[in-house]
Amino acid sequence: MTATAPITQDVLTLPRKLPEGGKVNIIGLTRDQLRAALVAAGTPEKQAKMRLGQIWQWVYHWGLRDFAGMTNLAKDYRVFLEQHFTIELPEVVTRQISADGTRKYLVRIAGGHEVETVYIPEENRGTLCISSQVGCTLTCSFCHTGTQKLVRNLTAGEIVGQVMLARDDLGEWPVPGAPKDETRLVSNVVLMGMGEPLYNFDNVRDAMQVVMDNEGLSLSRRRITLSTSGVVPEIARAATEIGCLLAVSFHATTDEVRDKLVPINKRWNIETLLNELREYPRLSNSERITFEYVMLKGVNDSDADARRLVRLISGIPAKINLIPFNEWPGAPYQRSDWERIEAFADIVYKAGYASPIRTPRGEDIMAACGQLKSATERARKSSREIAAEAGL
Ligand code: SAH
Ligand code: SF4
Repeated sequence: MTATAPITQDVLTLPRKLPEGGKVNIIGLTRDQLRAALVAAGTPEKQAKMRLGQIWQWVYHWGLRDFAGMTNLAKDYRVFLEQHFTIELPEVVTRQISADGTRKYLVRIAGGHEVETVYIPEENRGTLCISSQVGCTLTCSFCHTGTQKLVRNLTAGEIVGQVMLARDDLGEWPVPGAPKDETRLVSNVVLMGMGEPLYNFDNVRDAMQVVMDNEGLSLSRRRITLSTSGVVPEIARAATEIGCLLAVSFHATTDEVRDKLVPINKRWNIETLLNELREYPRLSNSERITFEYVMLKGVNDSDADARRLVRLISGIPAKINLIPFNEWPGAPYQRSDWERIEAFADIVYKAGYASPIRTPRGEDIMAACGQLKSATERARKSSREIAAEAGL
């Protein structure tokens, strides 16, 4: 094959839209996909592995964005790369910084769609909350994202790109020659932004493979948490193909209430979900599952709920993350009172489970869980539609 052979989408395992000019964006390709793309563009088979390793390090370890700076590659090979490839991240449209240090990025992806990415600094770690879809097909009645119709799945590149743009903003790329700094600003990634990650499984998996690669961004699988509303048939794949930690949006202790809060429960109910979850720790060789539980006044926050919850999950290594409801304009619920949340937490704790109450972060910039939403107003549902879907 010659150096000018055209790159077709067929060389990639996933269909990817070629950027303008027919160049392939490197960001988000797995090692195998990038290798295949290099060969298809004309890199001799024999050299492909070494070139791949060099490019990979420049892009994901050093954060370099142009081929010209890849000084350990021959000049004409750098020109060749420029002709066939790009290194492109989604664009940050706005950045808001909360009084508590939380940063929210509004990120524009191809097609002009927007998603949000949130960085939450804590004393001993920094968590980046990333989005996997524009909007969400599911319609959880307490979630702002659920009021927005799905526009599209994010590509693997757009998912990895969120991690890279946060590192850009935080100035976290290593400086050549400087002493190695082991402190990580983005030390954890949670797939808890917009969208249901298990409904965009292949792209999420490929993106996490890039994020976990230890010659690049190098985040361990134990520092990645995927949150699902309960897409039962895909849960085992998260264990075997990604191996990350799992969080489940549980939120209710009876099918009647969960049907309303998390409507996917009508498809896979509490019992089906719990049976699947019992397998997860073994499959992924991970410690425990996080049960997320949003505290909604008078809806799911009674002592009886707390007791039912611990009975239901008995036998599953678990931690219960209590999330005080974050309000948004037109939301049909209220946050439980603080004493109620504490009483609930106490029952769960006494039953032997860690029951941290998640401190709302970045509330002044609407960056808290479930408040994320793109500015795509035309895709917005009315409050009446939301209430009708919740059966309220
Ligand atoms: N779609 C996935 C991941 C995104 S939501 C899921 O549902 O798990 C991340 C977490 O925030 C979920 O537990 C979700 O139920 C919760 N959440 C959504 N809206 C919220 C709100 N308004 N207040 C508090 N938590 C909310
Ligand atoms: Fe989608 Fe998760 Fe929001 Fe439900 S809670 S609507 S699954 S983003």
